[in-house]
Amino acid sequence: MRKFLVIALFAVFLLISGAFAENKTCEVKINLKWQYNETVNPTIDIKADNESLNFNKYMENNTSLIVRFQGDIQKPFLITIKAPGYQPVTRNFVVDQSGKAVLSVNMNAKESYIIGREITKRASKFLDFKNSDNILVITTAGHVKYKNETTEDAIEGILNELGNSVSFGRGNILLLRKTALDTLDFAFITKKGKNITMAYFRNASFSPVYIGTISENMSMKEYSKLCNSLGKDIAFSIASIANAWALGVSADILREAAFHGHLCAGTICGYAMVETLLKYYPPKGGAMGEGVSYIVLGVPGGSDDDVFVYSMDATPGKRAYIGYNTTNDPNIVGFIRWDSNNKKGTLIVMKYDVKELAEEFKKIYGLNIKEDTPIELKFNSWLVKKLINNPESLVKILYAFDNLTEEQVNYLAGGTSGRTVQSAHGLDMSYILNQTNLVNATPENFMQKKGNLTYDQLKTIGLEAARLAVDIFKQCGINVEKDNLNFLVLTSAGYARLNGQDTSPMWDGIYDILGSRLSRRTLLPVHSALWSPIWFTFILKDGKYNSSILGKIGGFGKFKFNITKDDNLLFAIQIVYDPEKGLVVINDTKGPIYDIGPGWNYTNPSVSKIFKNWNSVITISNGWSYEPPFDMLMVYLFHNHICPGVSPSYLITNYIFQNFPRGKDEKYIYITTTDYCKDDGILLLLGVSPGAGTYYNLRLSDNDTQSPSINGGNMEGILIIWNEKLNIGKAVIITFKWPQFYPGTNSLKAYIDWYKGKDPKGVASPYILTKETEKYITGDELSVILKGSKYLSSGNVLKFIMELPNRQLSDLISVLPISYPTQVTRPTNVSTLISHVITGSSIFTRIIPYISGLGIPIHESISGISGPSGKVGGEIGARGAAQAAGAAGKAYEITPVSKGIGKPGIPFAGIIAVIILIALIAAGYLLRRPEK
Ligand SMILES: [Zn+2]
Ligand SMILES: [Zn+2]
Repeated sequence: MRKFLVIALFAVFLLISGAFAENKTCEVKINLKWQYNETVNPTIDIKADNESLNFNKYMENNTSLIVRFQGDIQKPFLITIKAPGYQPVTRNFVVDQSGKAVLSVNMNAKESYIIGREITKRASKFLDFKNSDNILVITTAGHVKYKNETTEDAIEGILNELGNSVSFGRGNILLLRKTALDTLDFAFITKKGKNITMAYFRNASFSPVYIGTISENMSMKEYSKLCNSLGKDIAFSIASIANAWALGVSADILREAAFHGHLCAGTICGYAMVETLLKYYPPKGGAMGEGVSYIVLGVPGGSDDDVFVYSMDATPGKRAYIGYNTTNDPNIVGFIRWDSNNKKGTLIVMKYDVKELAEEFKKIYGLNIKEDTPIELKFNSWLVKKLINNPESLVKILYAFDNLTEEQVNYLAGGTSGRTVQSAHGLDMSYILNQTNLVNATPENFMQKKGNLTYDQLKTIGLEAARLAVDIFKQCGINVEKDNLNFLVLTSAGYARLNGQDTSPMWDGIYDILGSRLSRRTLLPVHSALWSPIWFTFILKDGKYNSSILGKIGGFGKFKFNITKDDNLLFAIQIVYDPEKGLVVINDTKGPIYDIGPGWNYTNPSVSKIFKNWNSVITISNGWSYEPPFDMLMVYLFHNHICPGVSPSYLITNYIFQNFPRGKDEKYIYITTTDYCKDDGILLLLGVSPGAGTYYNLRLSDNDTQSPSINGGNMEGILIIWNEKLNIGKAVIITFKWPQFYPGTNSLKAYIDWYKGKDPKGVASPYILTKETEKYITGDELSVILKGSKYLSSGNVLKFIMELPNRQLSDLISVLPISYPTQVTRPTNVSTLISHVITGSSIFTRIIPYISGLGIPIHESISGISGPSGKVGGEIGARGAAQAAGAAGKAYEITPVSKGIGKPGIPFAGIIAVIILIALIAAGYLLRRPEK
């Protein structure tokens, strides 16, 4: 089917290689025996002498396939049959004198596909899917590994078992972000009237650990039962998302919640902040270095931060998110809108006040919001309604300044582009409020008309785009088959909104025509800001470059290499959806089909000028053609392009998983020191994020991160393995040195080989990954680290960690209660150790200079923004925050120290000492400011 059908009007035709031998027409009939009833059209490849042949293919029915091709009947042929969820089958065969052959092939499903299918069947029995109004599936599949394999096939199994009722475009299959180390879990949820019921399957088991209600109307007793079965975190995670879904929350918000881990007040208020920002300070002027419109200055631990990363595509890897504990209020955020053409910026500072909202809620319903009760779910529902009707009522704009200079952006964010100019200071409110050149910004009042298209209307846009693409390919002699695993659709739909509406139904339209979807790796949504335009690129991987191009230097994005016969031609059509004009095919005289394989610069160089999102499209489609592991493919999408910079993330996280696996009660926190593309991979693969309070971004200057032990290496970041029970952790400084490749090497292929555990070719010197140091740390030391470098006399967090003494875990368990020689009453049993501390253990030398002799009252408010002083934990607020001082897992408002009090192993005195310490550090800092 391949080469001879590509007719002359298709310019690339001339470049395609392949000799036309004197061949006969052959025909092979393949009888397929599927493990499950499948209607899928398998993808095949036929080779002779190791060269792919052209063929025509007919499906007689679901189990019988006829393939015709031209071939030399004297020779053996090699056929490969692939279908999503199934193990590929490769067979040798010969044809008889008349050129015919018959093959019987057993198609065996992959293990995770079977799990997906079988668990769905069980769930259907328990929950009576047929008689329910709607179904939702939340699963860790796609993120976790099962028996060392990625698990996207489990999603395929679920979707095939359920038919049309569940789809990515309906937003009722959600992939809960977890690490490769987590268990393969499935939550099936049905809605019937007001009842929301769930069956939960853990760790690929076919027996559910819970069947019952998860409705917000459940009793406290029922909620306790749910928590006992699943654990509190998972119970809230699933119940919060399911109840929001039942309420009709937009699918893109539900996906953000699956990314964040649950749906909470921070999620809802985060979206309210984004809507308020877009109304008064919409994107403007030239975009910044990596194509982003805003830099977010966050304070990790407030769930809103994940909303910015997700919905604004403000990822740290694109240097669009900087954040560490620069204030005590994690629910405050700064947005820098930078105009790279005019070199001027606007800074908008917003916050949301969960306490205030909770009081309002209490006034109306008489309910006190408490963690781990269904009341929090009711509170969420109330917030959701406010988000829909009046998002601005959820947030406060504290400041909006115009006139921000490049120098000021550099100070706050470390740079205005990909290049780090200096160490970032994050949301430093006292600096901001001391700048005299800033003037109040004039808000616009951009009223976006809210679209009211139905699911079917939105779906039709995707469907029409796919049909149009199929037609154009057909006009050029290429028959695009359904379910083809060599056919890829990239799109901004699902992230980009249309008149404020989620656009993921478009994915379902594409699926109907082409059988493309995420779990098949054939429909890949490219991370985009929700105000981005909607575009689709349809790409067929087919054919090789001919001898006039082979050996030349080609490439894509920042990858340059010699083109080889392993490289593929990628034929692409791009269609943009314009709300006024409808679907527009991107075209110049060389189109509308363009080669975007690594030789594009020889076949049709103008394509780079006319395709939208060119860097995303060309890098992801080429990377996809090399078949990277599914989890890394998700990283590429999240980062929205492939570059050398994102490549180490998989290696770094693998290094972490192998050398520093998480134990019971332990979690990962990652503090980045060198801020570049790889951070997006670390977020996704390590399961950390700013909104969960497990990812911090210091963005230090290059000088500060040079490795003392590896020449040319950099201290990329600090991994903390934090034991939440003991309130003690281990800090590991991770050092990486880039590999070197011989000229002409395709380094992206080399990286993908490394991911797959293979030895790549063309490596001049391999990468180095090692630990610079590994130290046990206390809760208060963690809090120092999370506050960034400026509070340290050495001016460098990395140095602070390296200078910590080498202690054993047992040392810290005994030292913890006597951490600070302050005026706090200590339990008598530790008093004998106090003198040891006072007489100068080096742990405290870096901290004490700021405390000693100040004699100031405890006061944590910075410039009056973070609210009343002495907060030690509200009842509600950002969930799941990583907390320093004495914190329990879920953290609330400021410092949830109260949660730690009375916990076994964490004596009261130590905690109070920590509170005082934090306050003193903050105050000490304030006192020192005027000297500057
Ligand atoms: Zn949250
Ligand atoms: Zn990048």
